Amino acid sequence: MTPICLVGIGKIAVDQHVPAIARSDDWELAATVSRAGTVNGVTSFTDFDQMLTERPDIGVISLCIPPVPRYDYAAKAIAAGRHVMLEKPPGATLAEVFALAGMAQKAGVTLYTTWHSRMAKGVAPAKAWLADKTITGAHINWKEDVRRWHPGQDWVFAPGGMGVFDPGSNALSIITEILPMPIHLQSAKLHFPENRDTPIAAQMQWTQNVTGDFDWRQEGPQSWDITVETTAGILNLHDGGDRLVISGENVVAGNNQEYPALYDRMAELVKNGASEVDVAPMIHVADALTLGKRLIVDPFHF
Ligand code: NAP
Repeated sequence: MTPICLVGIGKIAVDQHVPAIARSDDWELAATVSRAGTVNGVTSFTDFDQMLTERPDIGVISLCIPPVPRYDYAAKAIAAGRHVMLEKPPGATLAEVFALAGMAQKAGVTLYTTWHSRMAKGVAPAKAWLADKTITGAHINWKEDVRRWHPGQDWVFAPGGMGVFDPGSNALSIITEILPMPIHLQSAKLHFPENRDTPIAAQMQWTQNVTGDFDWRQEGPQSWDITVETTAGILNLHDGGDRLVISGENVVAGNNQEYPALYDRMAELVKNGASEVDVAPMIHVADALTLGKRLIVDPFHF
């Protein structure tokens, strides 16, 4: 098994990365780096440089920290000859992701910009079904409770945190994967809490009659749905892409195996000496923040 180091032992590391690595035949969690978090039975560091120096045996780093600090960690890891796996969204800006891709290529190491929602069970069959269809429209309905999924995480509302586009980028990662044609943003409305720097809700209108409704204030049942209308029937993805229904018939339903699939993919990339860098979902976020009309709404407090 290949030793791997997990950096940023917070919500997503504990919920998904640690269990996915523990169940994998490819990976052994050999160390963690976190100022506060640790994993039982695993060597922990609080300083990233120290880990890089003291553990030359660890060739692969998985970064689970928020997007703003991630670039510096990734750049150091690549400079130290390590393969790097990035949580989504892969950076705070597009340019820094392109810079990392260039560095990784030059250093001959793997860089993987993961998009976990693309690994949801319904996504690949949805893409295959849509490949030869005539699309007449599509809609994203992505509404969840920020207090439940990002408890107390003020970084999501700080510059670079992307606000509702942090989960919204999951929907964008699916739509950019399954649609057989490109789309680009035509207009957007962004709802900024008066005490915050990122939007808590957004409505988007793209070309090809594609729309999106994103909201982080939804309590009760959570909605992670995408509908695609075609001349051959309607395709629905539910549960964040895990359940696929075509013209009312259940096609596939997964059981949240996205993170194990990401680690399988990383193992494959490292083995093949390849990288996978895709910023398509982030382009739509950047476009929304460039083009969107800014509306001020009630202050938000965790
Ligand atoms: P989080 O719990 O707030 O942060 C993860 C860890 O990163 C923290 O525990 C912290 O560990 C470290 N960290 C925070 N700020 C840092 C900084 N400025 N410098 C260095 N380390 C810092 O966030 P999360 O929910 O796990 O999200 C992390 C990433 O995973 C985000 O990109 C998010 O989009 C993605 N993600 C989150 C979810 C979710 O449901 N929450 C789902 C899928 C993907 P220490 O303080 O111990 O160093």
